[in-house]
Amino acid sequence: IIKLESVTKRFGSLTVLDELSFEVKPGEKLALIGPSGSGKTTILRMLMTLEHPSKGHITVDGDYLFHVKRGDGLAPASEKHLHEMRRKIGMVFQHFNLFPHKSVLQNVTLAPILTQNVGKGDAEKRAMELLDMVGLSDKAGAMPSQLSGGQKQRVAIARALALRPKIMLFDEVTSALDPELVEEVLNVMRRLAEETDMTMLLVTHEMNFARDFADRVLFFDSGHIIEDGPPSDIFTNPTHERTKSFLRKVL
Ligand code: ATP
Repeated sequence: IIKLESVTKRFGSLTVLDELSFEVKPGEKLALIGPSGSGKTTILRMLMTLEHPSKGHITVDGDYLFHVKRGDGLAPASEKHLHEMRRKIGMVFQHFNLFPHKSVLQNVTLAPILTQNVGKGDAEKRAMELLDMVGLSDKAGAMPSQLSGGQKQRVAIARALALRPKIMLFDEVTSALDPELVEEVLNVMRRLAEETDMTMLLVTHEMNFARDFADRVLFFDSGHIIEDGPPSDIFTNPTHERTKSFLRKVL
């Protein structure tokens, strides 16, 4: 459902991703791990079209993300095309990015109403189901400022799901949280992974969670994939010295 072909991303003279290629199959739960600065977040940001690749192609759900086919070649995608492609993907960020002046319920219903022409009643019904799923139906009328960090992050997850994406991206969703609030967010994600066939990509520093959640782990270093396999292999039998030394530091 996602394919990167020789994707290079440079920021000025810094090459963050170097001729990176990999594919993600529908329904896969993929964890991206690796040292700080290895380019994991940049991959998610490109999938959300927040960054453009310097070189190479990305395909999502059978269509080029940044290009359209024209004749025998490819032309840059229009803003309309990017907008349509973005609808396939939901993202949850490290800093929850809730709308501060909207209630919890409005945070979840706003995008479906405004961007997908969903009626208010239907949007609210769906939002209440999602808030129930993340354990927050009693907070529907609350404002974000009245919530804990863990609760805000669970609202952010419900909000992303309200747009019914095929693919969900999670970027360090627990790293801004107090330790005692981490587990409630991880529990929601664990359930989501078990109960849906959505494709999920997760960037995380929580190695135990990556092991639990993912059916496939990619270990990155300096913009390259060093290791690609099931968590049982990568965490117990890493083949590369760089993976071993990284895991020694973080486990
Ligand atoms: P972390 O685990 O710390 O989040 P990461 O593996 O997700 O790291 P990225 O956030 O993808 O790494 O960043 C990779 C490199 O690209 C870093 O050196 C970062 O400073 C740099 N970088 C990211 N975004 C930009 C930008 N907009 N402009 C310049 N440099 C950037």
